[in-house]
Amino acid sequence: MSRKKKFHLFENIEVIDAAAKGKTVAKAPDGKVIFLSNAVPGDIVDIQTGRKRKSYYEGKAVKFHKLSDKRTEPVCDYFGVCGGCKWQNMKYEAQLAFKQNEVTNNLIRIGHVELPEVTPILGCKETYFYRNKMEFSFSASRWLTEEEIKSGNDFNNKNACGFHIPRMWDKILDIDKCHLQEDPSNAIRNYIKEFAIANTISFYNPRTQEGLLRTLMIRISSTKEIMVVLQMFSDEKDNRELLLQNVLKKFPEITSLQYVINNKGNDTIYDQKVVLYHGRDHIFEEMEGLKFKINAKSFYQTNSAQAYELYKITRNFANLTGNEVVYDLYTGTGTIAQFVAKNAKKVVGVESVPEAIADAKENAKNNNIDNTSFFVGDMAKVFTDEFISKNGMPEVIITDPPRDGMHKKVVEQILKIAPKRVVYVSCNAATQARDLSILDEKYKIIKTQAVDMFPQTFHVENVVLLELR
Ligand code: SAH
Repeated sequence: MSRKKKFHLFENIEVIDAAAKGKTVAKAPDGKVIFLSNAVPGDIVDIQTGRKRKSYYEGKAVKFHKLSDKRTEPVCDYFGVCGGCKWQNMKYEAQLAFKQNEVTNNLIRIGHVELPEVTPILGCKETYFYRNKMEFSFSASRWLTEEEIKSGNDFNNKNACGFHIPRMWDKILDIDKCHLQEDPSNAIRNYIKEFAIANTISFYNPRTQEGLLRTLMIRISSTKEIMVVLQMFSDEKDNRELLLQNVLKKFPEITSLQYVINNKGNDTIYDQKVVLYHGRDHIFEEMEGLKFKINAKSFYQTNSAQAYELYKITRNFANLTGNEVVYDLYTGTGTIAQFVAKNAKKVVGVESVPEAIADAKENAKNNNIDNTSFFVGDMAKVFTDEFISKNGMPEVIITDPPRDGMHKKVVEQILKIAPKRVVYVSCNAATQARDLSILDEKYKIIKTQAVDMFPQTFHVENVVLLELR
């Protein structure tokens, strides 16, 4: 087949909508859909397509005839290179409108469910610097931008600390300022990088598996405590002590300084020992007087302010009177369970990660909550008739599954025991819609409310209230 047949240049095409995963959509003259990676709805562009797929094209705008009025100037220098914050070039109102649309479209097209009047999406007050946790990677082979390569300069020092280039496991984009976490996040990262370079402390090279510094996690809680966890490849005591001592001297406000020595091939610290160097091995998050203890491995919603909004919506939808048995499925560290506990007779939380359940129990105890109980296990295996007869028939179920949605068995079990109300919190409206289409047999959607937890990205959360028909 000739190249001409495979690739097309379509001229003067209007970009009409946003699609899943941050892509945008246009229509080719032959009527097929084109998914674009670098345009904003409202742009008028020439499009170069890649290989044609069965029923659609993938392409790139190569010439911009008109720029959309939905556009705005990205604040970040790394826009387009870094994998995060892909929607920074769109005004926030436009981002919200597209998120709202995506949720509604999924519920209608995948779920085939009847929708009540949709409550408008809840946006964030802070559209930058909203994350409480960031993870950066070190690398001895920094990603050079096109401009840097074109400049012809010699880049001797290729040490970097920042983010992975999308789909390149060994290439790190060096970051000087990230707009996602408040200060002193950038200052701490930059100081560590510069101190290490000045003192010839080596950066990890994942290809050759050499070098000391691997990853850096910074957590800054709403109570202003700061946790820093440095992951190193090997046990270089002198370099480690030198670095940690100086980090602490420069940033005495760090309340938890920890490190991990990980000489495995992969970067995950979940199967590694975390060593405390200074302060406490945890920080606290606070919400409505409840305290949540967070250690290096704990999960906590990354946008604290908006998590509070999400939980309030969830609690409103649950509409508890104080007499109900409530199940909180996929409870994580039991935050939603504790958040609704004072309005319920009792709350039963289930979650597959044992450490999260240990945190949930400890937090509930410290918060003087005595009507919650927590269980570890795979939901499809734990949430059985026997479990329900032991723990009580729930009047209300709150469920907050991961991106894959609920296992079919879990959905079927909900249908079988048929609690009067289900509140479904989801970070993926497509799998939520799939599950709702099964629940439709017995449940009617009373309310649906999208919540934006991650401005500048295409991610969206959605809360649905279901009641028995
Ligand atoms: N509701 C919590 C966390 C929700 S994230 C909060 O707001 O903080 C989804 C949770 O589901 C994660 O904690 C994950 O560990 C858990 N999970 C994923 N698969 C699971 C399974 N098969 N069974 C039980 N829990 C699971």
